[in-house]
Amino acid sequence: MPKITLTSYGAAGEVTGSCHLLQVDGFRLLIDCGLYQGNDDNYFKNWTEFGFLAKNIDAVILTHTHLDHCGRLPKLVKEGFGGKIYTTPPTTKLVDIVLSDNLKIMAEKITHSKYQPLYTLTDLQNTVKKLLPVEYDQNFKINENISFTLHQAGHILGAAIIKLNVAGKTIIFTGDIGAENMPLVKNIEYFDQADYVVMESTYGDRRHQHVKDRNAVLIQAIQRITRENSTLVMSEFAVERAQDILKVLNDYYEKHLDFRVPVYFDSPMADVVTKIYKKYTSYFNDQVQDDLKYDRDIFSFPHLQITSESRFSKNINTAMPPKIILAGSGMADGGRIIHHLARYAPNQKNYVLFMGFQVPGTLGHKFINGAFHFVYYGKKIQIHCNRWREEHRRDP
Ligand SMILES: [Zn+2]
Repeated sequence: MPKITLTSYGAAGEVTGSCHLLQVDGFRLLIDCGLYQGNDDNYFKNWTEFGFLAKNIDAVILTHTHLDHCGRLPKLVKEGFGGKIYTTPPTTKLVDIVLSDNLKIMAEKITHSKYQPLYTLTDLQNTVKKLLPVEYDQNFKINENISFTLHQAGHILGAAIIKLNVAGKTIIFTGDIGAENMPLVKNIEYFDQADYVVMESTYGDRRHQHVKDRNAVLIQAIQRITRENSTLVMSEFAVERAQDILKVLNDYYEKHLDFRVPVYFDSPMADVVTKIYKKYTSYFNDQVQDDLKYDRDIFSFPHLQITSESRFSKNINTAMPPKIILAGSGMADGGRIIHHLARYAPNQKNYVLFMGFQVPGTLGHKFINGAFHFVYYGKKIQIHCNRWREEHRRDP
């Protein structure tokens, strides 16, 4: 029996920075290599040492493309990692977009600090070259001791639960655990048996909101701002949540052709990600496969305006309410949503809806926890608008 040891170098006792080292005799396998996110103290931990030598890592398996799981991969490559990064086919395409966008956000965040970006574009390109697609449910042998299969996680496109077989022992790494009946991705898979399970527990102290309730919150929000002739600003995560929202809105608008409130999709990155989603429709659940028979483009509907170019983005401001603005980043720690919040938050007539988990330290977290103001390019902006969060059952 080989000697097996597991050490967590992130996302242990905290939410972000997922990075787990499984050693099987002399073989070093890393599960995820994520970014620390949140307040400055946490964020700048990314510049500290890994706790192991990158050049000694033999292989990586990546669960999914959220930054807190993949954000330090280019740093790993920069510091000498020479192996392969195994992950699902959709993830191999999404990683590049997510890490490129992160490079831009990082440059902004470190402007007034002593730090240099964690990685360069070349490091990123070298990282992408190391990605090796492995299909769901196919057994992949890394060496004579270790093999693995990737399973549905119900989280985002391409997300996987890793089931490892290490010398006859079953070790499961869940990555992030999704919910059932998601608008797009397939349901999470369950397992009968394992010797060890390393499990995400961000939502361990509460039940997931039912997806139907979550969609209802969204629909009620758009109906309400229509009645009140106001503006709804929604935060969106560029990967999955944005496409989920587009699908829910698509279904609503196509059923209610008299509903004419414009939706401005103001996130260049989410737009690029949506194009990837359109290429991987075979990874969607059965319901979506049925929908695709009648609606070839499930992410496009009447009155949707994609404003990727910033000159169109500015047109949003001149449009009369009611209107709906979808913008990233999901936690408002960068991206165009900050400009929209600065414009619409001071007016008590408007609504802001935050979708998904908000890490402490981010502007999104401050908003949903009742902050009275925030600083926008050195200017104090008062927050008088109505605030909703999608996660709790606080119906609008
Ligand atoms: Zn995730």
